[in-house]
Amino acid sequence: MPSPWYPSAEVEPVKIVIFGPPGSGKGTYASRLSKRLGIPHISTGDLVREEIRNQTPLGKAIEKYSSSGTLVPDEIITEILKKRLASELLKGFILEGYPRTVGQAMELEKITKVDTVVNLNVPDSVIVDRLSARLQCKTCGTIYNEKTLKPRIPGKCDKCGGELFRRVDDQPEVIRERLKVYREASEPIVNFYWSKNLLKDIRNDDPNVDPERVVDQIMKLI
Ligand code: AMP
Repeated sequence: MPSPWYPSAEVEPVKIVIFGPPGSGKGTYASRLSKRLGIPHISTGDLVREEIRNQTPLGKAIEKYSSSGTLVPDEIITEILKKRLASELLKGFILEGYPRTVGQAMELEKITKVDTVVNLNVPDSVIVDRLSARLQCKTCGTIYNEKTLKPRIPGKCDKCGGELFRRVDDQPEVIRERLKVYREASEPIVNFYWSKNLLKDIRNDDPNVDPERVVDQIMKLI
């Protein structure tokens, strides 16, 4: 009798980039996707905020970029990412917030290959609305929205009870600057990945969409 076939334990790690403008829901979808797939969610924005919160020498040097909505220079952010990514290359990851320039996309290629780039398309009106109502947990990073994704107890995280805060860069004038930076520096990345056949588009025009439904859509694409 032929021996039964068992799937190999050596499953290839999945490496996904979630790309889109600020406020497109990247962080929310990436963290939910990470739970469904059981692979880590790496957010360069969170790594930047952690360095700043801990007031490390690096954190002090990059605070001015983050608070004004401009980009941390490519060399610095790539070093921060490499440090964090090193332990995850074998497991796979969901990367969010990087790359943000074509230069960073080329750096990422040197670090590792990527399987899929999910490109979130969201109108500016939805972005501004969403960012001005965004709240985040100081302790575990979970994202809420004062209108569409409210915590059960105002000001407190449902998951860990941590205090919710509004990001300094979620002020209207900083949001405008972040959108401008996205259009100029980040949008050309779409063509970069399109030409490599890695891009999967998601359109999201509904400001009140249930995040889990968007994650369902992403799951079908990857
Ligand atoms: P985010 O939470 O992704 O919106 O990132 C917050 C801020 O961190 C950005 O406005 C930038 O100042 C900085 N940052 C995060 N990721 C990057 C990146 N890949 N390149 C440059 N700056 C970044």
